[in-house]
Amino acid sequence: MFGMVKNVLANLISRPSTRLYPFEKRPFFKGTRGSIDIEIEKCVFCGICQRRCPSNAIVVDRTNKTWTLDPYKCIICNVCVESCPKKCILSKQDFNHPVNGKQKLGRKQEIKQEENQEKPILASK
Ligand code: SF4
Ligand code: SF4
Repeated sequence: MFGMVKNVLANLISRPSTRLYPFEKRPFFKGTRGSIDIEIEKCVFCGICQRRCPSNAIVVDRTNKTWTLDPYKCIICNVCVESCPKKCILSKQDFNHPVNGKQKLGRKQEIKQEENQEKPILASK
């Protein structure tokens, strides 16, 4: 009986042993590999990441300027991150969020206007 009362009192005045997740999140460890993403505007659609990926998780479509990742095939090995010549694939520390069904990560590059295109000249009065 005395032991139980001692435990109850100790628990009342001590800090909780667990975190109040999701309000209190543990910081990621250095080097954590959580998920893969891309800065699509830097991509030149060379296809190196697709060819080097050991689990065939990446599909690069040069014609339509799309880059697609199947997160259910990706093993977060970082080969694509290290082999991309434009360094546009990101290894993020945060993990993919839960989803209702299988979804692929698709990114599409906007087609830029020609930079050398002549600007319209405004007529002066
Ligand atoms: S290796 Fe890099 S630049 Fe080449 S297609 Fe993949 S993401 Fe784009
Ligand atoms: S991290 Fe590895 S498995 Fe995932 S897409 Fe890149 S190369 Fe493929």
